Amino acid sequence: MRFPSPFPGEGARAPSMPQNVDTPVLIVGAGPVGLALAGDLGWRGVECLLVEQSDGSIYQPRMDLVGIRTMEFCRRWGLVGAVEAAPYPRDLPQDNVYVTSLTGYELGRERMPTLDAAKVPPESPQRRERCPQNMFDPILRDFAAAQTGVTLRYRTRLVDFAQDADGVAAEVEDATTGAREKIRAAYLVGCDGGRSLVRETLGIGMVGTAALTHTTNVIFRCPDLVALHDKGRAYRFIILGPEGTWSTIVAINGTDQWRFSIIGAAEERAYAIAEIQALIRRAVGRDFDYEILTVMPWVRRELVAERYGEGRVFMAGDAAHMLSPTGAFGMNTGIQDAVDLAWKLAATLQGWGGPHLLAAYDAERRPIGYRNVREAAANFRRMTSPRPGPRLLEQTPEGEAFRQKLGAEFTALMRHEWFTLGVHLGYRYTDSPICWPDGSAPPSDEPNTYVPSTVPGCRAPHVWLASGRSTLDLFGKGFALLGFGADPADVAAIETAARARGVPLTFTAIDHAAAARLYARKLVLVRPDGHVAWRGDRAPDDPLALIDRIRGAARL
Ligand SMILES: Cc1cc2nc3c(=O)[nH]c(=O)nc-3n(C[C@H](O)[C@H](O)[C@H](O)COP(=O)(O)OP(=O)(O)OC[C@H]3O[C@@H](n4cnc5c(N)ncnc54)[C@H](O)[C@@H]3O)c2cc1C
Repeated sequence: MRFPSPFPGEGARAPSMPQNVDTPVLIVGAGPVGLALAGDLGWRGVECLLVEQSDGSIYQPRMDLVGIRTMEFCRRWGLVGAVEAAPYPRDLPQDNVYVTSLTGYELGRERMPTLDAAKVPPESPQRRERCPQNMFDPILRDFAAAQTGVTLRYRTRLVDFAQDADGVAAEVEDATTGAREKIRAAYLVGCDGGRSLVRETLGIGMVGTAALTHTTNVIFRCPDLVALHDKGRAYRFIILGPEGTWSTIVAINGTDQWRFSIIGAAEERAYAIAEIQALIRRAVGRDFDYEILTVMPWVRRELVAERYGEGRVFMAGDAAHMLSPTGAFGMNTGIQDAVDLAWKLAATLQGWGGPHLLAAYDAERRPIGYRNVREAAANFRRMTSPRPGPRLLEQTPEGEAFRQKLGAEFTALMRHEWFTLGVHLGYRYTDSPICWPDGSAPPSDEPNTYVPSTVPGCRAPHVWLASGRSTLDLFGKGFALLGFGADPADVAAIETAARARGVPLTFTAIDHAAAARLYARKLVLVRPDGHVAWRGDRAPDDPLALIDRIRGAARL
């Protein structure tokens, strides 16, 4: 059976489970991106099977910042309470402190509030959160597992796959028994991380810089590290020596575990334990008792896949882009991929998505991959730009003046990395083949500032409505048509066209002056992922053409 039919017609809905397949969507990899994809698909009523080669244990947590947009998705999924209840201390000041060592000179400091004290900004119903991967992945896993139709299979590795016109034939291996099994899926999504077998099997290359640094992360336990120095409780210390920025120490669980990163260089370098110990001593500036828990060498990359998939196979997350962690964009970018792809897969499987809908995934998300990879690498270059020289450590008035100047300049420079509302909320799909442009230009795309806009392709802005609801709470499962004093005949015309194509659409009339101003048109049509598809003061002359465009049925 060829699936789906591009024009299902009114009322015709293909079943969520296509014929002749074991699962509609096979997801490979249960990192945060695969789990988010499985959860969002399940939430949309789409069955899927996720295979993960490991048992799900986190050997060493990598991500810990859950960005504001990801928190907006968590709000939609009902996960905000779980994130806020994670055992990361909510009274830990999130300061970034620039030092020569923990017991040495403090060069500068960006004071950041604790998680509890952080304000929800006016641009969003949520605030960013600190929730390390060993706490966040289980939240996503429980969410995915709770969705009817989602199956999670750990210790199951994808070993091979091939696709034909009707589906994907995958082979998986049980990590315990070695037994192999064939699984047929309508679609396969590789969320299998930087070394993606899916990407490799498709023969898709990466564009960019393969190795910015070979970095070594060391998690060590020391319950009273804070008592050993005079810099106080803080989230992150960035350590500069005469040669430049050479390491960081991060409060990875906020209490007794610390992540020490030896930044390294483009050339590979392995460290013996004795060398690591000497470097920890240098970073703290004194001898002290601690226990090394894990050592993880990794490569900092600046890479984006040449394509985000091929035919019925897609890639999301680190499989599609590898970012320097400077900025904390990696997982957050990947979860945006998952949300973008999930509704397109759902629409296609449910029969209301057109034949060009899934192709829009690459068109929309790859430019964002480039954008975020570039910004992360720029953050890395900023962080490592100072070359202080020996004066940094001089105990003289000149040395003191030098440190003050350097500290002030570095503090100003690093603000680019800490305040990135524009990166998280300002990404837009203005050139997307499935958005309907209205000729107006979007606000300038700036990493540090976000200007709300309903220019088609932009994230539909947040406004608090009555009774504590955000406009964002209106978006999710289908298209949302918002009306600000619109003519009912125009609303009816769009509703009728959507019904004719089986496109789920709900209309909400909003009587709210600030929202009407911000949304700027009498009618704004928002996609299931919360981005604006179309806007106007009245229905278009051909509402069916609009609906066909936004569901990917129009050939452009
Ligand atoms: C030090 C550091 C700090 C970071 N901090 C942040 C941060 O604060 N915020 C942020 O957004 N990002 C951060 N990142 C980046 C973030 O960790 C990654 O972008 C994110 O983990 C990617 O998620 P993923 O699900 O795409 O891939 P992964 O987390 O790599 O998961 C891929 C999964 O696929 C599985 N897999 C691979 N091959 C197969 C196969 N053949 N069969 C079955 N399973 C397979 C793997 O076992 C793995 O579980 C950081 C990265 C580092 C290195």
